[in-house]
Amino acid sequence: MPDCIFCKIVSKEIPASIIYENDKVVAFKDINPVAPVHILIVPKQHISSVLEIEESDTDVIHHIFMICKKLAKDLGITENGFRIVNNCGHDGGQTVDHIHFHVLGGRTLTWPPG
Ligand code: 5GP
Ligand code: ZN
Repeated sequence: MPDCIFCKIVSKEIPASIIYENDKVVAFKDINPVAPVHILIVPKQHISSVLEIEESDTDVIHHIFMICKKLAKDLGITENGFRIVNNCGHDGGQTVDHIHFHVLGGRTLTWPPG
């Protein structure tokens, strides 16, 4: 998708600290981390938000959660716990219109969100 910053990270047009990649997804460090561990997991295909997920995307969405689990283990945050966040739309706080899942950990996270 032209002008999509996460598509550009996927295609390596702009740099990111990529920590994991396979044929379906890319995971990279958030440029503005809000926790000691703050990574973003995105599908390589452009999906704008949860609202745009189709039945045909089931495999990649499922796969994203498997990679969340793998990376949480690899990053050592499973024992104390962690959070997976998806923001959707304006009120949800979505600022990049390419679906992404934040994995946050390394400190005690508060609830409810602001
Ligand atoms: P959202 O607010 O849409 O849920 O999350 C977007 C996230 O993307 C934010 O946490 C923001 O810091 C991160 N972000 C925005 N632009 C870039 C970028 O160019 N590189 C990286 N690594 N993260 C970015
Ligand atoms: Zn995109």
